[in-house]
Amino acid sequence: MLYFMPRSSLPLFVSSLFLCASVVAQVPSLDAWKVHDPDREQPAMVDPGPGDSSAPAPSDAVVLFDGTDLSAWQRLNGEPPTWHVTEGYIEVARRTGPIETKQGFGDVQLHIEWATPNSGDGQDSGNSGVFLMGTYEVQVLNSYDNVTYPDGQAAAVYGQYPPLVNASRPPSQWQAYDIVFRRPHFNEDGSLEKPARITVFHNGVLVQDNVTLTGPTGHRSRPPYKAHADRMPLRLQDHNEPTRFRNIWVRELE
Ligand code: MG
Repeated sequence: MLYFMPRSSLPLFVSSLFLCASVVAQVPSLDAWKVHDPDREQPAMVDPGPGDSSAPAPSDAVVLFDGTDLSAWQRLNGEPPTWHVTEGYIEVARRTGPIETKQGFGDVQLHIEWATPNSGDGQDSGNSGVFLMGTYEVQVLNSYDNVTYPDGQAAAVYGQYPPLVNASRPPSQWQAYDIVFRRPHFNEDGSLEKPARITVFHNGVLVQDNVTLTGPTGHRSRPPYKAHADRMPLRLQDHNEPTRFRNIWVRELE
């Protein structure tokens, strides 16, 4: 093909080859940063301003927790959850395992509020997590006065992307995530057609800007995508700490 090509079109041809390559290789490589790399830069602190970033559920939202009960949730074995519901919030019942929604979701806008206890340090200061499709974790952690590896702090896509800035409020105060999640798509043979993407606002501050996930999130690992259903439950993590959640709703985007 090159033989028949006028010399002047060669640069165009070569650049289009690179363009094709970039379209095929859709999943970004984060090789420059090892998973949980301590040398990664700590995101700058940003004061999100006063308030608790609460947001009422819009009329077309699926309300997953309105302060009263856990009827939308179950344990992974399908049994009723034993997490505590008190004074309008859910508190993790330690060592009882994660909880997940009975309903599955694909593309969503998610609002969720959370508060960490004022105890512990590193990964043990209010650690929990919001797992989209039970697979892709946005980290929940006290990162106000608590340093950890940047891809494991609050609002990180765990093990992949630190937040752009650290918009944390102090422990015990209510904070919020507003998340836009676009699920991965898989071909019929199980190969990846389109990776997942996520945008996250932490206390109203943009902290993940439409980033492309490398695959499921993992501890000390970045496993590759594995084909799964188009809709899967939202999961909250039990990391053995009494972290709290309230006002949880999603708007389905598909
Ligand atoms: Mg976690």
